[in-house]
Amino acid sequence: MRIKWTNNKVDHWLLSNNTQIKRQSHFTSVHDRSCWVCLICKVEWITSFQNIKGRGTRCPSCSAKKQSDQKRFIDETYFDSFLVKYNTNMKRVGKFKGIHDPVTLRCDCGHIWETVISNVLYHNHKCPFCSNRKKLMK
Ligand SMILES: [Zn+2]
Ligand SMILES: [Zn+2]
Repeated sequence: MRIKWTNNKVDHWLLSNNTQIKRQSHFTSVHDRSCWVCLICKVEWITSFQNIKGRGTRCPSCSAKKQSDQKRFIDETYFDSFLVKYNTNMKRVGKFKGIHDPVTLRCDCGHIWETVISNVLYHNHKCPFCSNRKKLMK
């Protein structure tokens, strides 16, 4: 059975699904565009209820903020302080592009090599020359 969406039903749906969205203008049909307001940042925007319900569209300003927060989480400042904080004896000498991109590093012994940032962050990769030497000395 198809639900006949009314103002009340839409309001109820927004509430019970914890969308943090409030209806601002009169609702006519799921395909028609209405005005909505975000309860978090109070931004108003226009979209159809179908987009909100079917495609999970949420406040454009909050979504943009979320994305930039995620991006900001690992940047060159974070990476540089990671190298210091965990006593890696490595320094970044190349440009930081992204965590899955190669970067040039330099260890305290002066070796310079290229690795992928995520390897250093998540797989504990160290200077390949120093690790080889340690292996040979064993
Ligand atoms: Zn918002
Ligand atoms: Zn080294």
